[in-house]
Amino acid sequence: MPDAIDMATRARSSKLSASMDGQEVTVAGWVQDTRNLGGISFIQLRDRDGTVQLTLPKKKIEPGLFKELTTIPRESVIAVRGTLKANKEARAGFEIIPSAMAALNVAETPLPMGVIDKVNIDLDTRLSNRFMDLRREQVLAIFKVRDALLGGSREYLSSEGFLEVQTPKIVAAGAEGGATLFKLSYFGREAYLAQSPQLYKQSLMGAGFERIFEIAPAYRAELSDTVRHLSEFTSLDVEMSFVKDSDDVMKVVEGLVAHAITHVSRKCTAELSMLGIEPSEQKPPFPRLTHEECVRLLQGAGKKIEVGQDIDTDGEKMLGDIVKKEHGSRLYFITRFPTELKRGTFYAMRLDEDPSLTGYFDFEFDGEELVSGGQREHRLPRLIAQIEENDMSPEAFEFYLKAFRFGMPPHGGFGLGVERFLHMLLRLPNIRECVLFPRDRVRIAP
Ligand code: ATP
Ligand code: MG
Repeated sequence: MPDAIDMATRARSSKLSASMDGQEVTVAGWVQDTRNLGGISFIQLRDRDGTVQLTLPKKKIEPGLFKELTTIPRESVIAVRGTLKANKEARAGFEIIPSAMAALNVAETPLPMGVIDKVNIDLDTRLSNRFMDLRREQVLAIFKVRDALLGGSREYLSSEGFLEVQTPKIVAAGAEGGATLFKLSYFGREAYLAQSPQLYKQSLMGAGFERIFEIAPAYRAELSDTVRHLSEFTSLDVEMSFVKDSDDVMKVVEGLVAHAITHVSRKCTAELSMLGIEPSEQKPPFPRLTHEECVRLLQGAGKKIEVGQDIDTDGEKMLGDIVKKEHGSRLYFITRFPTELKRGTFYAMRLDEDPSLTGYFDFEFDGEELVSGGQREHRLPRLIAQIEENDMSPEAFEFYLKAFRFGMPPHGGFGLGVERFLHMLLRLPNIRECVLFPRDRVRIAP
């Protein structure tokens, strides 16, 4: 380490306070801003938790140190040792008077983009310089919220007896239809990136795991470029055995989502306020509307749509507004999806009383799909028939079907898009904001 600044004594900015007046401290981070006012200079030094102010009265600082600190380019990484002084005028109530510094990495100039400048930078430039963009406090805040969202989700699922698992992402067959499969060459054979852990989650029900969840990447070659689709997203998947119907699954969906939102609202007050979001607690149960009821609501609002038809993106948004007005909720279920609309979803159980309907549901947040799920078909003959009806071959799914031959309990589950959740919760304009290094049709680097 140059200049012998001992990193073992380094404190992050959040660990320092005015009550440490007079103490010798070591700080390290990025030079965010330097102001030279002649007789005195100020440096804002940033780390993950915030900034500390370094104050340099010219007369009291050794000239070599003064020069080095006041001329080092913005965004360089430095370590500083100095004395902490309480000062009501400094933003945090204290400042540090440096006595030694080490330049750990001097930033080149000009910077590819500013970190604290108030100018609007387009998303593409930001994503191309993502390491820099992520230094901005409002961008970092999104990932602090993401951490809390996942923490709250794990907390809920664990308390409900779900076991966290990981399933393969290199797979032999898709679960969501061929159009969005990424093919890859696997030792001379064709393989795919997993679109969803669906088939493995179900196998684990056959294995007797009873209640599981997984938080892992899912891959979809989405053909259209939208603000709510990624090629690589994080899927929070849940599967549970011995359900009586899809209602049992819906209770877990709403419990999980409500708990995660509450957890974020309590843990991330500073981040939410920085992002302009009011903390909110959403209390389940959330409204349940059948697909048919939703279509009728849309017809009533002037939308051209027939019962049994898919609700398009515009319709979903309209529905979000209607449900908010009539039921006072941003969150709601669309239940009893028509079988025809879940065609690719060969594993969906159909309703005994009306096989043209499934017990499948979508769970919506402000008119955007957050979750899909429902009870699965666990009876082998019916499952095989449904695979065939979808023009797929049961032979290709033998590795999956085998688990249904030797003891498969009734079960159900769902998949929730983690980035979708953040996208809606934080009302961000583009889902790409919610991923560190997003992947889409044109972007594969950084
Ligand atoms: P959509 O109709 O919005 O494209 P889907 O019905 O194809 O989604 P599902 O297979 O039901 O998606 O996946 C479960 C959840 O995963 C979705 O409700 C959504 O939250 C999320 N999800 C699906 N595809 C994507 C994607 N390409 N990017 C981000 N999240 C996604
Ligand atoms: Mg869906």
